[in-house]
Amino acid sequence: MKDEINIPLQKEEDFVAANIRRDNYSRIRDLQALEFNTAIAGRLLAKDKSQIKCEKCGKEFAAETSINELLKCPDCR
Ligand SMILES: [Zn+2]
Repeated sequence: MKDEINIPLQKEEDFVAANIRRDNYSRIRDLQALEFNTAIAGRLLAKDKSQIKCEKCGKEFAAETSINELLKCPDCR
């Protein structure tokens, strides 16, 4: 009697686990696709994101590749 109850529950758990696994896989795939798209969008938005403030006058300017070195706007260098 107890086994008859446990067997369907076991199958139910497998079914749920399989669904969760499938859901996770598709989420990871979506996430990877999203990250890929975000990377492209990020490059397009990089100009906005790389706006930093001059440590001297506070004016915002586009950071250059060597971001750590250039914390002053072109006017203050
Ligand atoms: Zn400045």
